[in-house]
Amino acid sequence: MEHCDIRTTLENAGLSKTVQREAVLSTLIRADLPLCARDILVRIGRECRINKVTVYRVLDSFRTAGIVREIPTEHGETFYEMACRHNPTHPHFYCRICRSLACLPSAGIEQKWLQGIRPGDAAIESVVINFTGLCKSCQKRNRTVSV
Ligand SMILES: [Zn+2]
Ligand SMILES: [Zn+2]
Ligand SMILES: [Zn+2]
Repeated sequence: MEHCDIRTTLENAGLSKTVQREAVLSTLIRADLPLCARDILVRIGRECRINKVTVYRVLDSFRTAGIVREIPTEHGETFYEMACRHNPTHPHFYCRICRSLACLPSAGIEQKWLQGIRPGDAAIESVVINFTGLCKSCQKRNRTVSV
């Protein structure tokens, strides 16, 4: 699968290259699902010396630059994924028990909604569509408990 280039992405966003930014960005590019700050920290592991505060600071600079998409969840945990041309806006499924977040395919419906907005009326910066419920393994576990 085609992926964004770390150096080009940072350059286009006007962000200087730091070891920490490169580590967080490469983790998000390689990820096959949205990650929260804790996930990113675990995945970077010993590759690079980074703490949670730095991860948040890097993510904040990425969000401001439009590199990543922020997906808030009902438990207050925020997930991040690439906001590039390889990953167009799509809805997500959030499991309220194991607190996992999965990407759902884009139905192109977001673009249809935006057609109702006349140019100049609003500058949309993000769309968040979350479906919440129980994932497959949590449904199974729940059934076992209630029997
Ligand atoms: Zn990309
Ligand atoms: Zn679950
Ligand atoms: Zn996603």
